[in-house]
Amino acid sequence: MKKKLEVNCPQCKKKFEYYSSEFRPFCSERCRLIDLGQWLEESYTVPVEKLTEDEYLTLEQLIDEKNKNEDSST
Ligand SMILES: [Zn+2]
Repeated sequence: MKKKLEVNCPQCKKKFEYYSSEFRPFCSERCRLIDLGQWLEESYTVPVEKLTEDEYLTLEQLIDEKNKNEDSST
């Protein structure tokens, strides 16, 4: 049986199929980055929605590092 779950993206409020998104609970990478950028805002003064490709990559790296830290702490 295929699991199907429709949720609203916490960032853009768009409805999407939860299991079809690599970026859940967000509908897209952009929404995930925007959201993460919001909590990174203290160190990130650039408006997140205007990130360049390089800035996205930097943000990705920050996120990866954070995820790794979280993984090892549990
Ligand atoms: Zn979204």
